[in-house]
Amino acid sequence: MTPNIDPIIHIDEELCTGCRRCAEVCPVDAIIGEASTPQSIDAHRCVVCGQCVQTCAAYAAENDPSLTSRAEKLRQRGQLSSVREPLFAAYSTGHAIELKEALADPKRYKVVQCAPVIRVSLAEEFGLPFGTLTPGKMAAALRLLNFDRVYDTNFGADVTIMEEGSELISRVMSGERLPMFTSCCPAWVKHAETAAPHVLDHLSSCKSPMQMVGSLVKTYSAELDGIAPADILSVAVMPCTCKKFEAGREEMNVDGLREVDMVITTRELAQLIKDKGIDFINLPDETFDSPLGKYSGAGTIFGATGGVMEAAIRTGYELVTHEPIPNLQLDFIRGDEGIRTATVQIGDLELKVAMVAGLKYVSTILEQVAKGTCPYHFIEVMACPEGCVSGGGQPKLLLETQRKSAYQARKSSIYRHDSNQKVRKSHENPAIIKLYKDFLGEPLGHASHHLLHTKFFSRSVKGEMK
Ligand code: SF4
Ligand code: SF4
Repeated sequence: MTPNIDPIIHIDEELCTGCRRCAEVCPVDAIIGEASTPQSIDAHRCVVCGQCVQTCAAYAAENDPSLTSRAEKLRQRGQLSSVREPLFAAYSTGHAIELKEALADPKRYKVVQCAPVIRVSLAEEFGLPFGTLTPGKMAAALRLLNFDRVYDTNFGADVTIMEEGSELISRVMSGERLPMFTSCCPAWVKHAETAAPHVLDHLSSCKSPMQMVGSLVKTYSAELDGIAPADILSVAVMPCTCKKFEAGREEMNVDGLREVDMVITTRELAQLIKDKGIDFINLPDETFDSPLGKYSGAGTIFGATGGVMEAAIRTGYELVTHEPIPNLQLDFIRGDEGIRTATVQIGDLELKVAMVAGLKYVSTILEQVAKGTCPYHFIEVMACPEGCVSGGGQPKLLLETQRKSAYQARKSSIYRHDSNQKVRKSHENPAIIKLYKDFLGEPLGHASHHLLHTKFFSRSVKGEMK
């Protein structure tokens, strides 16, 4: 099954008022049109972040005979007929109808993974306060939806740290291709390919945690479960609309099979749970399946801006110095929208790092790289304002004040979840140690290169390079 790589973000001409609120939040000026007329999207520039979808407040009036019927609009948008929420002008293509059908197919072995921030935002769709943490209810709900294995993208985040941390150390030691940028945010990667191909050599070659889990689902986990990889349906629940685009990239396959067959957003998972009549709030907690459901605190903080950096430093420090890191909670890395920089002493090395939260802030750093004056070794870039907590597929918030409190509450929950984990460093996760011992060998080894790393390609058109 090949995921849909057609345009994922749309503006419904019948509903768009031309207010251009979406253009104000678009980090790459991809919304085109005159004020007070329906807008359109330049699919080439668009990084599929879904911020326009989050912001748009124009919606279809009930039973307006001049509009295409609600039933038809839901079908066109890939949304279940049971969806009750308003239909807004800006929207992302849904895959809930397709997934509902696939889940009913007894011949498929259905495996799901959930991104770090789904567990801190899903409950909002059921009326619980912002940031309510519900990993156990989420696992239970996914089993009731008929998944055979409930895995976790946090496990992939731990694998990413093993690979990306080793890659960073090797690049810093050799002085090659510095600074190194993170590559787990697909909207950032698409922007680099489209508007800044001069930095592509500087991106980590690591696939994102989602794709790493997808790859391991069809190899390592398939082997452990004795299931033919071709019989597996690999599904991911993501806070991000661009993950739908990433899963469909041609290079994201393992031995000819898609690593992730289908991606749904937090909102779509809530719609499937409601459609099945599951009483989410009263579900008893269940655990994730082993081995790809075991994660460290470092894996869980990937969902907040600065999280990848903090997780990488916890492991990188110990790999380089062979001593325990004195403090696990790196507050100087945590923060909100914008750019933060720091110098971290790791043994003899003064590691200079930068965290970019919000794609519109990355241009200064891209210019520095082009001129060869960039002072940093390692740069985390997240396209959405505060990282995945504010992703385009998260529960929709219309008021600016509401949005700020929700992001804050979701981030606090993520950090609380991290501090409650017994294991808080990726390299100490027993499931990760076993994965390398039994299957991958060593970070950056032959198996890792084949399954967990990739290449990025320029998508720029003439005259566009920045
Ligand atoms: S998805 Fe993001 S990049 Fe694309 S038009 Fe919307 S806001 Fe702009
Ligand atoms: S898509 Fe929504 S936010 Fe953008 S101009 Fe149209 S109505 Fe306004």
